[in-house]
Amino acid sequence: MAPPSPREFFGFDIGEDRKLVRWDRIVEYFRVLDRESPRIKVVVLGKSTEGNPFIMAIITSPENMERLEEYREISRRLAYPYDLDEEEARELARRGKAVVAISGSIHATEVSGTQTLTLLAYELATRNDESVKLILDNVIILLFPCLNPDGQIMVVDWYNKYLGTEYEGSPPPWLYHKYTGHDNNRDAFMLTQVESRHFARIVYREWIPQVYLDHHQMWMANARFFISPEMDPIYPDVDPLVWREIQFLGSYAASRLAQKGFKGVETYSPFTPDFVGAFQTMAIYMNIAGMLTESASVKIATPIYIHPHQLKGYGRGRTSERPTINYPDPWPGGWWRLKNIVEYQKESTYAILEAVARMKDEILFNMYVKARRNIERGKSTPPYAFVIPPKQHDPLTATKLVEILLNLGIEVYVAEEPIEAEGRFYPAGSFVVPLAQPRRALAKKLLERFLYPDNELTRDREGNPIKPYDLATERLPDFMGVRVEEINEPLRVRIRKLSSSPKSSPEVKTSDYGWMLDSRLNASHMVVTRLLARKIPVFRIPTPIKIGGEELPPGAFYVPAEEAVLEVLRGVAAEVGVEPKSLDRPLEVEELLKVEFPRIGIYQRYYGGNIDEGWTRWLMDTYGYPYKIVRDEPIKEGRLGEEVDLLILPSDPLSYMTGENIEEELAKRFKIPMKLPPWPPEYKSGFGQKGVENLKKFVENGGTLVVIGDAFEILTKGFKLPMKDITEDIKDPKKFFCPGSTLRALVDITHPLGWGMPKETPVLFIDKPVIELAPNYENEKYVEVVRFPDSNLLLSGWLIGEQYLARKPAVLDIRLGKGRIIAYAIRPQFRAQTHATFKLLFNALYRYEKQKI
Ligand SMILES: [Zn+2]
Repeated sequence: MAPPSPREFFGFDIGEDRKLVRWDRIVEYFRVLDRESPRIKVVVLGKSTEGNPFIMAIITSPENMERLEEYREISRRLAYPYDLDEEEARELARRGKAVVAISGSIHATEVSGTQTLTLLAYELATRNDESVKLILDNVIILLFPCLNPDGQIMVVDWYNKYLGTEYEGSPPPWLYHKYTGHDNNRDAFMLTQVESRHFARIVYREWIPQVYLDHHQMWMANARFFISPEMDPIYPDVDPLVWREIQFLGSYAASRLAQKGFKGVETYSPFTPDFVGAFQTMAIYMNIAGMLTESASVKIATPIYIHPHQLKGYGRGRTSERPTINYPDPWPGGWWRLKNIVEYQKESTYAILEAVARMKDEILFNMYVKARRNIERGKSTPPYAFVIPPKQHDPLTATKLVEILLNLGIEVYVAEEPIEAEGRFYPAGSFVVPLAQPRRALAKKLLERFLYPDNELTRDREGNPIKPYDLATERLPDFMGVRVEEINEPLRVRIRKLSSSPKSSPEVKTSDYGWMLDSRLNASHMVVTRLLARKIPVFRIPTPIKIGGEELPPGAFYVPAEEAVLEVLRGVAAEVGVEPKSLDRPLEVEELLKVEFPRIGIYQRYYGGNIDEGWTRWLMDTYGYPYKIVRDEPIKEGRLGEEVDLLILPSDPLSYMTGENIEEELAKRFKIPMKLPPWPPEYKSGFGQKGVENLKKFVENGGTLVVIGDAFEILTKGFKLPMKDITEDIKDPKKFFCPGSTLRALVDITHPLGWGMPKETPVLFIDKPVIELAPNYENEKYVEVVRFPDSNLLLSGWLIGEQYLARKPAVLDIRLGKGRIIAYAIRPQFRAQTHATFKLLFNALYRYEKQKI
């Protein structure tokens, strides 16, 4: 029996104006396809963040389906070809089947991907023409119909709710993923979210496809359709064959679209593959031909009209609407509909699948070539390895870094004997990442000091630096505060391959006097929150203290011995990996501070939601800090103090917080007039000027305000504190430019906010603010807990004009009235990636009561 068509099953055609299939129905439909077609096998990989099924459909011929495990093994062996010579690789390529992963709609408002891929699955299950036969015989498709099921449901429900009203077609006013919103596609290396981990297991480690195609949508008034290749700068350590495959496949798809008369298709424009936070760019660093498509958006599923003059090029890659080599057939303007997007996406997908099917042997053999050459380069070119020594400021975070590398399919080893290299010594037990491995490019990208290229590819004609598509660096040792050493001579040492996380479950010894937790470990804070949640008293010691032979720096946690504590501590330690140090004598200290949680709030607004707010919540949920979400009312009404003691303002421009002048701000940022979507009045948030005044009063009356990144504007422009962000005056990017780079900063580790930090730490700084304090009679109330050093600031990324940042404050502790403001010019918790500076935020989330000894 043939499976029902989408029209029969859903009651309408996929791509019909104003019609979207919701995720639950899509999953049902895939189950039907699985049942009715021998060409489709649906695998539930697990649940999404909010408990919806996360599925993958394997699509291939029934004959191939019988031998999936064998083909998977071939795909893996070609990707890690240690035991293969060229002849064997060619033989495997002949025997194997090409593997292509396809996904869509990770960005939930980019609805078309999921709809298209559902239709595609039906056609592949039922069509019997030559093209489909060719594809099914030669290719195993790993189809991810949706990388963000929760968001798909949110968007479809929101869209249907307002269908037929004046708000039709607006995106939801909140984040379309519980925590990450649009940043769910910046989680490709840290893998914090469950959706990321499901995908990574299949694509990074179990199957390792040769090609990965990810469908997105872009702004309404650009080209109709973009398909890879993207444009310079590229990362030079990616094997050249990867770029050539991408060019070939993209051009093949573009020429197929041209053959069929699809207009407005562009390549080599404005996206860049120079970061690894996105899944498609990540694939490239794994020797996979990672392909991106971006279709011009409609109003969710409602057609949109575009005037010809609204169509424009970009600063990078294509400057006008004139026909150019990478955009030979401009679209003339007019109506644009969901159906159009479905057709562009579907046609390009077929073209890529056909190309891969025709070149199956070559594509499989290429994987061997790319992997082999990475191994060879690692043997012949420095650096030869990275070493992660066991002696670390926070060894558990170093272990976490190793775990991340393993999750990315990077091979990590443990030295079984001491290492001597370049006159330096590392003890046995050090972690070693040799670069003679297939994922050399990725390991290098993530571990090596990286200076973003500053050349004619990254400057415009006026010599202005062009903002990288994402951050200018993603170097894990900087992000995580882990010491990683580069080894520039061949390593000769006995090493053992790590097959799973080196995390251990420490033992907790009994004690009559209590336990100490080292404040240098991020994970200690996780233990503390769990103890506090169980009402177990925890204290901090503001001075250094000697325990056994070891001195703990200021801020160590003390857990007195009480009944039942040991049991809890054992459970928590096993879970978190922290080893509490048991005391063998009564604690002797001058001063003890009892640790409590203040009533914590996080400010949340609409206008599409604030991604930094989402990540902050993720971090707080993961580490166990209790909080409530605060919206405008208590702030506007001046009763915030009744609800919370401490309010976090995640990074956000002031206009988004007040709800005033947002379009003007956007126009300034994007340099074109901008209109917000039509949102119902109840979703127009903002606490207004009144709220700004009330927040200031909240602090003056004893409250604490935590201000991150862009939210600094509330202090400079809102509270009018005697400080300014000098980037507002500099304006010229040739003078100052820092688009997401890691910098050195100096920490006062005797200050409670700096407790547990090293004296010098890497920090992430993005664009602004560069804070200058006006000399004033209350200077002493502005305490610089972290500041930038006098020179040599840049660790990784891109920094023009370091003199502007030198010596400036990075974290301030400000007294205002009876209260306090803790302000971060850096990004202490960015995307939950900056482990190096988590503690600077955690330390802000306690309140202390002095105890008599
Ligand atoms: Zn997207």
